Amino acid sequence: MLQNEDIFSWESWVEIPKNSDFSLQNLPYCIFSTADNHTKKIGIGIGEYVIDLHQAQELNFFDGIDFPQNFFLNDALNDFISLGKVITNTIREIIMFDLKKENGTADSENILFDHQNQILIPQKNAIFHLPVKIGDYTDFYSSREHATNVGTMFRDPNNALLPNWLHLPVAYHGRASSIIVSGTDIYRPKGQTKAPDAEKPIFQATKLLDFELEMGFIVGKGTDLGENITTENAEEHIFGMVLFNDWSARDIQTWEYVPLGPFLAKNFASAMSPWVVVMEALEYFKVETPPQSEVLDYLKFKGKKSFDIQLEVFIKPQNSEEKLVSTSNHKFLYWNISQQLAHHTVNGCNMNVGDLCASGTISGSTPDSYGSMLELTWRGTKPILMHDNTERKFINDYDTVIMRGFCEKNGKRIGFGEVSNFVLPAKS
Ligand code: CA
Repeated sequence: MLQNEDIFSWESWVEIPKNSDFSLQNLPYCIFSTADNHTKKIGIGIGEYVIDLHQAQELNFFDGIDFPQNFFLNDALNDFISLGKVITNTIREIIMFDLKKENGTADSENILFDHQNQILIPQKNAIFHLPVKIGDYTDFYSSREHATNVGTMFRDPNNALLPNWLHLPVAYHGRASSIIVSGTDIYRPKGQTKAPDAEKPIFQATKLLDFELEMGFIVGKGTDLGENITTENAEEHIFGMVLFNDWSARDIQTWEYVPLGPFLAKNFASAMSPWVVVMEALEYFKVETPPQSEVLDYLKFKGKKSFDIQLEVFIKPQNSEEKLVSTSNHKFLYWNISQQLAHHTVNGCNMNVGDLCASGTISGSTPDSYGSMLELTWRGTKPILMHDNTERKFINDYDTVIMRGFCEKNGKRIGFGEVSNFVLPAKS
């Protein structure tokens, strides 16, 4: 495997704008089509382009690698991911090598370089689709600050964390059918709500529509029923990560969640970014996990298992500029993703390629780093002023919520693009 220290000094012959998420060191995967060709294909992001892997195969780029014809004409990454990391990493490294500046010359016999006009598709001409067929979706609750804020607001400030919280990564099983790709509009959900002083519930559109700033990881190697994944080998089972907005309806949630947890307050829509950034690209940005209380042996881990990924949330009112409302970081999570996967499978629960595990709302310790409107406005008591002087306690109709994420170290950057959704009024 190419070493990160070497790779991070490389430049590309593809022009990459400063602060681009899609540097040579990133090369995230996506599923895309274009306006004049609706066939979905597997692509890789570089600068302002998508590398069309099907076109590359047609031009004999993969000669010597035994791919079936039309392998990259696919509406999901699952088949590609199932090839395993030995193959997928080799492909990514070959592409990275061929995109290297020194290898982009007229006499370099480089198919990507020689046929760049056919293989490099401008991202602005691409339509992005959900990158994976998600079998099962699990949502964790791994931010101590978020769990503490919610516990403080809804239960007891002196006992904000429930007794199990520091002993295991709490999670629930979510719904995969309503996971949508960035750019998909959502309808304000309707449901039962009950005011604290009301005798009976009523049926109405949610008045407390909220986002949850999360990231998700995609399972890249499955397990059989009865097997478990350890904190040590968890990353071998993870293909990559995405930005994730776990849309929530707080008033529906408050009334419905006892005793079994979230249901209709969550499953009307959850959105993810179209780019899957592979774990190998994130390796360079690993950091220590925050200090933990004593945990059981199966949750103990060695080495750096957290990731320094800067996260931002913006609200864009319909006729105004976007407003930055939160700045957080994936490294704030108390439970790291290796612990999440180890816990998820410790009972023998099997994993499949394409399963999605989301982090839970990622809040930091300061009020400007909270990952939901519930916390940012402290249940609506501290509204946020938009650039057009309107206030937000929660999310309004015709607002767009945009989340972005990127890693930066020693002047090198890799990013996740964005997850963005426009909110439509409740469907009549
Ligand atoms: Ca959530």
